[in-house]
Amino acid sequence: MIKNEFTSYKLSKGVIDALTKLKYVTPTEVQKRAIAPALDKKDIVVKSKTGSGKTAAFAIPLIENVVWEENLPQALVLEPTRELAYQVKDEIFNIGRMKRVKVPVVFGGAPFQPQALSLKQKSHVVVGTPGRILDHLRKGTLQLQNIEYLVIDEADIMLDMGFLDDVKEIISYLPEKHTTMLFSATMPEEVDGLINEYMTDPVKILIESETKTEDNITQLGYFVENEDKTDLLLDILYEQAPEYCMIFCGTREMVNVLYRKLRKERIRCGMIHGTVAQEERLRTVDEFRQGKFGILIATDVAARGIDFDTITHVINYDMPFGKETYVHRIGRTGRNGKSGIAISLMNAKEEKLKNTIEEYTGAQITICERKSKEELKLNRRYYLEKQNERRPLKKKKGAVFNKEITKLSIGGGRKSKMRAVDIVGTICSIPNVVAEDIGIIDIRESLTYVEILNGKGKIVLDALQTKPIKAKIRKVRISR
Ligand code: ADP
Ligand code: MG
Repeated sequence: MIKNEFTSYKLSKGVIDALTKLKYVTPTEVQKRAIAPALDKKDIVVKSKTGSGKTAAFAIPLIENVVWEENLPQALVLEPTRELAYQVKDEIFNIGRMKRVKVPVVFGGAPFQPQALSLKQKSHVVVGTPGRILDHLRKGTLQLQNIEYLVIDEADIMLDMGFLDDVKEIISYLPEKHTTMLFSATMPEEVDGLINEYMTDPVKILIESETKTEDNITQLGYFVENEDKTDLLLDILYEQAPEYCMIFCGTREMVNVLYRKLRKERIRCGMIHGTVAQEERLRTVDEFRQGKFGILIATDVAARGIDFDTITHVINYDMPFGKETYVHRIGRTGRNGKSGIAISLMNAKEEKLKNTIEEYTGAQITICERKSKEELKLNRRYYLEKQNERRPLKKKKGAVFNKEITKLSIGGGRKSKMRAVDIVGTICSIPNVVAEDIGIIDIRESLTYVEILNGKGKIVLDALQTKPIKAKIRKVRISR
């Protein structure tokens, strides 16, 4: 068996086991440099390219230092968008899976009350977007007095005008002494002042290289009049026949318009932007991640942080306003060592922006000539046929744990005063089953769910048919 190189850090067995299951066996550069100081609770500022593994760089030390017995949250992670909050919650949850770490996520556009309920239970790491976190703080449904770590992901945008006041207010709820960790792929100098205001002598981990963008992303561009853009976009899609592609537009309206146009061309696609209903947004991202369709049209709400591991193409249908956003957008491809293609559609006035971007990223955007319609005729047919081929759906990352985890439902819950200790007590009295084999316990009104780890679900299920919990034989079943 290959040795997991994360063992060279002071990490407990549960964390190493989870990392091994997730196939994280070699730390990335940013993880190599950030894990040790973060474990030591030093303030850190990290700048490292898109897709370089920043999430695990903070998730691993957070999880390692979580004290399971505590009930109030010990770490708070701020994210700029709901989808990103959800994704980062998953990553932290997966890494903390063997340690049974509870990671509630809160964001706007979703009902408040269920979030408040989950915060009321034991929670170790809370992930969320600033607005909704503040709502919970003001209503008293989130307690931050025990926070040891504050993580501000995508820090440059979080300390920018739109978010800054919220972030400042959130910080005012934190205990005086806490560790602050900032992460982003871009850190303009403007945020330096703020960094010094909120951090004490931070360890700066700046992983710089010649280019700001991944070298494995080929950057292309077209000069085109605005009215010809859609036509050109279709040509590009037919020519490139991208397997998984994100198309960025400047406004929500443009996303809507383009979505309708592509659908009319019988191109399978999905869209996300700020006024799509939240449930729909999460579902779309999920389905795109599973590979149910190959094109996602989006505003910059999806420009940052979102990790789709197989995006082959990013198309800037409208150019972004700033050079940083360009870096984040095209960073949705070329992740995890894979290669990618980024294509920008520009009008004559945007030549200056192109130069600014090139200077900033240190990479060239190669200008292409349009192909003739004649040349592309066959491509169109090929593309429309290819997109309808059935592809096997991709599994979720956390699915690796499911084989060894069985979720049981047990009759009895809050109404009958069921407590976690009752469940743990009984299950631990089963031969060959120990506390470490018990995962998350979720006590509902009149039902309790409990996860049994390490492939011991069947043993526990069988034993509980005749073993009383809280003096009664309960109805115990496998829950799907
Ligand atoms: P960033 O935040 O730097 O843009 P992410 O944290 O989203 O990057 O990670 C990018 C991808 O790399 C994710 O799919 C993640 O699962 C994967 N990854 C992170 N660390 C490792 C590792 N040590 N080994 C293998 N894959 C990793
Ligand atoms: Mg990230």
